Amino acid sequence: MHYTLLDCYTDEASGLGVPPYLGTYPRYIYGQLKQEGHDVTYLTIDDLRLWKHYHNQKKETKEHQKTNILLYNLTNNRAETVLQNTDVLIVIIGVHVPGKYLTALPGTLREVIPLLQDLPMKKILTGPAIFGTQLEGGKFYEKENISLFNEIKDFTLPFDQLQSYAIAGADILTQIPDKRVIEIETGRGCNVGKCSFCTEPLKSKFINRRMEDVVNEVKTYYNLGARFIRLGKQADFYVSDRPVQMLQQISKHCPDLEMLHIDNVNPNSVVAPGGEEITKAIVEYCTAGNIAAFGVESFDPAVVKANLLNTMPLIAMKAIRIINKYGAERGKNGLPRFLPGINIIFGLLQETKGTHEKNMDALQQIMDEQLLLRRINIRQVAVLPDTFLEQHGGNKYLRKNNHLYWKWRNEIRQKIDNPMLERLLPKGTIINDVWTEMYDGKTTFCRQMGTYPLVIGIKGRLPLHHKINIRVTGYMLRSITGEVHGT
Ligand code: SF4
Repeated sequence: MHYTLLDCYTDEASGLGVPPYLGTYPRYIYGQLKQEGHDVTYLTIDDLRLWKHYHNQKKETKEHQKTNILLYNLTNNRAETVLQNTDVLIVIIGVHVPGKYLTALPGTLREVIPLLQDLPMKKILTGPAIFGTQLEGGKFYEKENISLFNEIKDFTLPFDQLQSYAIAGADILTQIPDKRVIEIETGRGCNVGKCSFCTEPLKSKFINRRMEDVVNEVKTYYNLGARFIRLGKQADFYVSDRPVQMLQQISKHCPDLEMLHIDNVNPNSVVAPGGEEITKAIVEYCTAGNIAAFGVESFDPAVVKANLLNTMPLIAMKAIRIINKYGAERGKNGLPRFLPGINIIFGLLQETKGTHEKNMDALQQIMDEQLLLRRINIRQVAVLPDTFLEQHGGNKYLRKNNHLYWKWRNEIRQKIDNPMLERLLPKGTIINDVWTEMYDGKTTFCRQMGTYPLVIGIKGRLPLHHKINIRVTGYMLRSITGEVHGT
């Protein structure tokens, strides 16, 4: 049987699969089908767009144009040819925590369904979309007619049945011409939270993947040439199975990794007994530019309570200090080694004007204490099916406060982000291993391969897909400007 996977990209609270990240969904399914003896081809939504919207022609951008990110992530395969010989098409789709993506745009149900309408093969829908999907914050989930799909299937397997598929799935790299960050799963579900907006507790009970299995998967990718790894699919890296040993083993077996980062961290785990040991190990074994993404969501205790969030503001501040204590030193690639990042969400239950004031007070305190934050993610909540939020108010607060969000966001960007960037990367700092990624008119936008990498704008159109070093020359609200400092 010939199966084709159509990756429309995924973004969840725990796990990223938007290029340059390669998520777990296509890799695991690819491995499973291969082991069952099928032919499997990997396509992206970009391949499908190239066929359906651009007649298989990818044009060079002119000097005044932006790089077309709708076609940025093509595979080695041609959608038109592949889909003529496909028996079953598996469509992977689903954004739960919408973000802004520099070089990709995830496919939505609204976009994909019409493109698949006249294709005759059996079609299966999978990925986070089976729990709802929404590419834009501040909205309810997409309510499209999905009768086009013959089946809606959750391919998730228990960890003990998954391992051989996870290993076999690494072969998918042979179908992808560009570099990818491999998002590695270390656990599922959430051991503490029932946060009002989050689907993670709905998807799985809390369970960890065995440390040895994580290390073996990383080794497999490393041996196939992958050099960028994020241990990012989990609710809290600190409660993974033996995290210190995991990092030691990976660094021992994969000595030339150019990037080894983590993602989500529960601030409560950082302040708990043993938290400082894990923090030190992350600083020692991971590469610089690493971030503990703290899902603080709000510094307003009333919002924390109403939304069943797990981190009270005092704990968040304590955890921020601990990570700074061990991780603030600058590493080889020019960035501090390990810093906290903070997520803030607008539109949660009981949000008032006072919520923004409390957020600003806490962020100002971080500034006043001379601490570093690597980034602040602000988004409007997406209301997903069966969540506590959907059942206890839905978009009530989003509607009520919507007119304030631009102002709130702008105040954080102006008063906190901007001075923080100057503190983080003073003018003249050299940043290494920066990749030229895309054009917007006469500017080239670049970034390191990493977790939430900083976007760097450089004057002129440099050749894309090259690795360069840059010198910091100035600041935008959330990004920096630089000039080339050699390769
Ligand atoms: S802590 Fe909250 S947001 Fe994070 S995974 Fe758990 S339930 Fe979801």
